[in-house]
Amino acid sequence: MADPFWETKSLKDMTPAEWESLCDGCGKCCVVLLDETDTGRLYETNVACRLFDVRKRRCASYAKRSQIVKDCVTLKPGNIGSLDWMPETCAYRRLARGERLPAWHPLFTGTRKSVEDAGVAVVNAVSERTVSPDDIWDYVVAVRPKPRKKKRR
Ligand code: SF4
Ligand code: SF4
Repeated sequence: MADPFWETKSLKDMTPAEWESLCDGCGKCCVVLLDETDTGRLYETNVACRLFDVRKRRCASYAKRSQIVKDCVTLKPGNIGSLDWMPETCAYRRLARGERLPAWHPLFTGTRKSVEDAGVAVVNAVSERTVSPDDIWDYVVAVRPKPRKKKRR
């Protein structure tokens, strides 16, 4: 059997469908991150972008996302390697760094439930529409150091 496309193609050579299929649907790029510049820590919250469907754990208007949410970053082969706030589990980030996809990735399991089972999906998210900016620190669920940048493939 032929090797899968994510092991044989570079990100820039993938078809749009292959590129999209890399997303595991974890939702972690759609939650508010608090960047504490003094300490270099990133605080992850479970407050999701106003366009995030918290029940389905996906963008409610994916095709128009960048028009509706101005600070939504469209991932591309050319920028993924420099987005140090992306979660270490993200398939785009992993491949950009020459890492393999994890066994729980839906491309192996055929279901997004494996992402939840692996504990890497956003859970109990609330929409930023319902949260006052003054209360945002009450929604911190994890803290992580800002990883050092590595060279892209
Ligand atoms: S962090 Fe990566 S894998 Fe997770 S939803 Fe965002 S793009 Fe998809
Ligand atoms: S606009 Fe959509 S893809 Fe962009 S951060 Fe919001 S929910 Fe995520």
